Amino acid sequence: MAIFFYNSLTRKKEEFNPIKDNEVKMYTCGPTVYNYPHIGNLRTFIFEDLLHRWLEYRGFKVIQVMNLTDVDDKTIKNSQANKMSLKEYTDIYKKAFFEDIETLNIKKATYYPAATEYIEEMIEMIKVLLDKGYAYETNDGIYFKISSFPEYGKLAHLEKDELKAGASGRVSLDEYEKENVSDFALWKKWTPEDGEVKWESPFGPGRPGWHIECSVMSMKLLGETFDIHCGGIDNLFPHHENEIAQSEAYSGKKFVNYWLHSVHLIVNGEKMSKSKGNFFTLRDLLAKGYSARSIRYALLTTHYRKPLNFTFDLLIQANSSLKRIDDFIFALKNINKEGQFDEFLKSVLDNQIKKFEEAMDDDLNISEAIASIFELINIYYENFDNITKELANKVIEIFKRIDNVLGFIFSNEQKDELTEEEKTLIEERTKAKKEKNFAKADEIRNILLSKGIELRDTKEGVIWKRIK
Ligand code: AMP
Ligand code: ZN
Repeated sequence: MAIFFYNSLTRKKEEFNPIKDNEVKMYTCGPTVYNYPHIGNLRTFIFEDLLHRWLEYRGFKVIQVMNLTDVDDKTIKNSQANKMSLKEYTDIYKKAFFEDIETLNIKKATYYPAATEYIEEMIEMIKVLLDKGYAYETNDGIYFKISSFPEYGKLAHLEKDELKAGASGRVSLDEYEKENVSDFALWKKWTPEDGEVKWESPFGPGRPGWHIECSVMSMKLLGETFDIHCGGIDNLFPHHENEIAQSEAYSGKKFVNYWLHSVHLIVNGEKMSKSKGNFFTLRDLLAKGYSARSIRYALLTTHYRKPLNFTFDLLIQANSSLKRIDDFIFALKNINKEGQFDEFLKSVLDNQIKKFEEAMDDDLNISEAIASIFELINIYYENFDNITKELANKVIEIFKRIDNVLGFIFSNEQKDELTEEEKTLIEERTKAKKEKNFAKADEIRNILLSKGIELRDTKEGVIWKRIK
């Protein structure tokens, strides 16, 4: 088994080999907590969740860091507009972020450092960059001098003339375009617009630039060289390019071995973003009646390097795909046929799971992986009469295993089996029916229905299904 990832640094698919056998250290740029995440942000977090889960499926211990950007141009501006302190304001959106990832069944990262908890370390790193001659001071801050780092541009594959043009300029904003390649701020000296937001430093009161935040938090928690760094494609330049420059200038070592970037969620051909106003939050969609499970399915099942166009139809399709899976599991759970495994169906199961795994090893090719599951379902339906109880249980067991990766096959209710009380009620109803006490049987059926369990009588006996 070998896993391949497309590395933005080399622009090639490469075999993945972590620094330490059996352990992967990955850094994922987290939310800027100035608003609710939109589902574009969540697409990226779900892609990172899939990566984390796939590496675990393949036996690696995963150490994942996701930072919370709780001080930058946007958080300061918005906290002021809402007449709140930076902390009061960002705390609201930190909480909302954790609620959203839980709703979407995104696995927890190992660490969630907040930028404001690492200011001391950022100041230390800036001091080293000044000492080594990679940074300089101006009236308004400390800047990284891109011409002092000859490899600047290696991630974004910048052309020489783009660099030359940029070497003369300077930008203090956290976000800027490739056309404005230039020296960037490591420390921004306090100005009255910053209000109460400031920290003391040897370069005067002020605050860190956005890019240094991620260099510091990643290296502090994962070491000076680590395996994987992810983010949405908009993070590639300038954010990740600047992270490489600062970190490698500081440590003299390679910062990250594999850079993985997810492509945007788009709406009518444009990136979904807060500034364009063309966005939906998770809460918007839940309020419209879509389920978190369908949203997870819709955001997860297109390959992370393909653009995904958001439409409501996408959620409706997701819902019907999930229903096909639910019905299949329901049908399997109710098979009572005794006997040996059917050789053909057993080999279909093995082959389709192998295809699933091979697709995932190939740069997380989720659309092919899912297709192999639906193929399995189709073939099983065609040969339904040959499925024995033992084989049905085996399929359910394997689905549970792959759901550690997908996180949408079994909703919480489906994971549960019947409780003892529910089992007893079903047995009592069967007994009542045998005794022709139909009134009692109906009464028990209604009690179960009120608990969300629907019963159906078949030739083989009673079968049940959870309906809420
Ligand atoms: P932010 O909260 O803006 O710092 O973004 C958090 C993450 O979401 C980053 O990795 C961004 O690259 C990513 N992101 C932003 N917009 C989109 C989008 N429309 N589709 C996918 N990812 C996005
Ligand atoms: Zn970052």
